[in-house]
Amino acid sequence: MIYTKTKLKDGAIVCGPVTAKSTYTRCAVCGKEIQMDLRELILAGAQDPYDTEVNCAECSAKMMHRGDINIDIVIRLTDVLRDIGYGMELHGLCEDFEVEDVRDLAPEEYELFVDELIDKISEVRHAG
Ligand SMILES: [Zn+2]
Repeated sequence: MIYTKTKLKDGAIVCGPVTAKSTYTRCAVCGKEIQMDLRELILAGAQDPYDTEVNCAECSAKMMHRGDINIDIVIRLTDVLRDIGYGMELHGLCEDFEVEDVRDLAPEEYELFVDELIDKISEVRHAG
């Protein structure tokens, strides 16, 4: 058994077994106390299980959240891509979507358009 030994203010020594249920950490983002099974850290290949930042489920979920895509974002994204030389790909994709300009896309097409655009560019980049 691995256990922790803590000296209290009055000099008393408290020993506690280190188990999956007795190890805690605080969320690096919100500070909430979370139970942390050290085995998970070790399996995840943590460099230093004693000094690993962990996020609680809610904060992890928030970080995973992708914001909604709106037309301003589509325009900004396509402007940048055109600036760095992907005007052709952009034009081709507009043809696929049968629009003259990204501003003519229907809101329900934004996400698909962005997905396809990213796919197209990553194909071109890897082919090059
Ligand atoms: Zn948190």
